[in-house]
Amino acid sequence: MLKAEHTTPDYAAMLRVAIEEARAGLAEGGIPIGAAIFRADGSLVSRGHNRRVQQDDPSIHGETDAFRRAGRQKSYRDLIMVTTLAPCFYCSGLVRQFGFQTVVVGESRTFQGGIEELREQGINVIDLDSAECVEMLTGYISARPEVWNEDIDVAE
Ligand SMILES: [Zn+2]
Repeated sequence: MLKAEHTTPDYAAMLRVAIEEARAGLAEGGIPIGAAIFRADGSLVSRGHNRRVQQDDPSIHGETDAFRRAGRQKSYRDLIMVTTLAPCFYCSGLVRQFGFQTVVVGESRTFQGGIEELREQGINVIDLDSAECVEMLTGYISARPEVWNEDIDVAE
């Protein structure tokens, strides 16, 4: 279980949920990028995954899917955005727009997105450098480079 009263939130356990989402997306034939939003106490708010392929919708990234499923929140300052891959500029913009202060990323080797800009804004970016996340996404990119390049073209 996730617990965090007086300790650092269990970011690795949070990432597990995002990885489950990424694998669900992969099983649907989609890009394996997942995300989840947690409260600081470790409780889950929402979870989601990239649905570009499944729904023919380039706006549904892991982060935006989880964000929409969270519904309206009074404040985002104490929520934690967790994602298997460093957020692109679009999703980094979402993080800034709504005032998330903490972002946990599974990895930033495959794609760095906007994490340096987020850090410059004072947002706490925790990179867990997960080999599982790297392998999952690079395996997909090797198999479906045309889909990945389409995503990255939009992301940049
Ligand atoms: Zn994105």
